[in-house]
Amino acid sequence: MPYYIGDVVKSHEALIARTPEKFESSGVKVMQEVEVTGIDYKGGWVEISRGERKFFDVLVFATGAKVVTPEIEGINQPGVFFLRNLEDAIAIKKWIKDQGVKRAVILGGGFIGLEMAESLRTAGMQVTILHRDNLPAKRWNPEFSHWMRDTLHEKGVEFVPRINVTGIGKEETGNLRVQTTEGDWEAEIVIIATGVRPEVSLARSIGVNIGKTGAIAVDFGQRTSLINVYAVGDCSEVFHRVSKKWVNFPLGDIANKQGRVAGRNIGGRPLVFEGIVGAQSFRLFDLECAATGLSEKEAEEAGFSPISTIVWGSATAKALGRRRLGLQLIADRSSGKLLGAQAVGLAGAVGRINALSVALWSGMNLDQIGYLDFAYAPPFGPAWDIVHVAAQTLKRMI
Ligand SMILES: Cc1cc2nc3c(=O)[nH]c(=O)nc-3n(C[C@H](O)[C@H](O)[C@H](O)COP(=O)(O)OP(=O)(O)OC[C@H]3O[C@@H](n4cnc5c(N)ncnc54)[C@H](O)[C@@H]3O)c2cc1C
Repeated sequence: MPYYIGDVVKSHEALIARTPEKFESSGVKVMQEVEVTGIDYKGGWVEISRGERKFFDVLVFATGAKVVTPEIEGINQPGVFFLRNLEDAIAIKKWIKDQGVKRAVILGGGFIGLEMAESLRTAGMQVTILHRDNLPAKRWNPEFSHWMRDTLHEKGVEFVPRINVTGIGKEETGNLRVQTTEGDWEAEIVIIATGVRPEVSLARSIGVNIGKTGAIAVDFGQRTSLINVYAVGDCSEVFHRVSKKWVNFPLGDIANKQGRVAGRNIGGRPLVFEGIVGAQSFRLFDLECAATGLSEKEAEEAGFSPISTIVWGSATAKALGRRRLGLQLIADRSSGKLLGAQAVGLAGAVGRINALSVALWSGMNLDQIGYLDFAYAPPFGPAWDIVHVAAQTLKRMI
C-alpha cells in the first residue's frame, strides 16, 4: 500500500490478490460492504448490517486488527488518515492528488511509518516523522535504528524523536497544524501509523477465549475454545517456536498460512500450523531491514540468558566493492542455540535472515550455523559469509 500511495505502484488493482469474481468462480460467495453486527452462536447465525441473518455450521473469525487511535484532539478531521486497508490507501492517494499535497506529517516511526516516509518522499513530498521514542523501528537494535534514522535524514526526511502530539488544528489556509510539546508542524496531510490491536469484539461477545495478548486464543489447527469456531490472521494468536509462547504477530504471511490451515481442517484435510519464528522485513530507501526470532530483551523476558554480537561486513566479496551489511546474532549462553537475528544492509539482509529463520526453526546452535553450507560467489558475499563470521564470533564469546 505505501508503494501505491507513493505511485511506485500505479494502479490499486495490482494490489488485489483475488477479485470477488475469481472467488465466485471457485465457489466462494463474496458479500461486499457488509458488516457482521452480531452473532448467535447457539442459534448458528450471524446478523449482518442489512438486518439479515446468515446461518452457519462453521464460523471463522478473520476480523484482522484495528488501528490504535491516539487520543489527540482534531484527529477526526479531513486530511488526517489511518492506513489499514486498500480503501484507506485509495483515499490517501486521492487526497494527495486532489489537494496537491506537498508536506506530510507521519505519526509513528514503526515499519509502516517508515515505508510511508520513503514512498511520500520518493513522490517528491516534504516528509516529517514525529516519533515518541528515541529511534525508529523499536524492534531493531539501536545500532541498526541509528542507521535507519541517518538514512531518513540523508534522504531528506525529518525524523523528530521523543515527541508527544497534543492536537491537530486547522489553519485559515485549510492546512493542518500538528501541535506537539516541541512546537508545531504544518502539513496538508497527516498519516497516523501508531500501531494496531486485534479486533476481537465479536469473538468476545460469544464467549470465545481471548488470550493474554488480547487476541483470540487458538490451537495448532486454528480452532478456538468454541466448537466449530476458528480464528485466523491478525485477530488471533500464533505459537512462537523460540519463546514457546502464544503471541499476536500481525503480519500478512502468517495470516495467509493460518487461513489455509483453518480451511484444510474445516474441509477435512487436516493440517497443523507449527507456528512462527518471528521473521519480518521492510525496505527503507536503500536499506534492507530484517529480523527473526527474539531480540535480546525479548529473550530475557522469555527466560533465556542471552548473549549477542553485532558484526559489520559486506554483502559482496571485498574485490567487488563494499555493500555495507550489519548482522546481530542473539544466542542462549547455556546451550549455544540461536535465539534471534537482525540485519540491516545495502543488500543481502533479507536473504541472510531467511536462512537464519530456518536455523531457528530447526533449533541450530552457533557451531552448526558457523559452518552452514551457503551458496558462495563473490557478487553475493565472501567465502566466509557474515553469518559464519557472526556465529563463530559469538561462539567465542560464550
Ligand atoms: C501499510 C501496511 C503495510 C503492511 N506491510 C506488510 C508486509 O510488508 N508484510 C506483512 O507480512 N504484513 C504487512 N502488513 C500487515 C498485513 O497487512 C496484515 O497482517 C494482514 O492484512 C492481516 O490479514 P487479516 O486477514 O488477518 O486482516 P485484515 O487484512 O485486516 O482483514 C480483516 C477484514 O475483516 C473485516 N472486518 C472486521 N470486522 C468485521 C465485521 N464485524 N464484519 C465484517 N467484516 C469485518 C475488516 O474490515 C477487514 O477487511 C501491512 C499492513 C499495513 C497496514
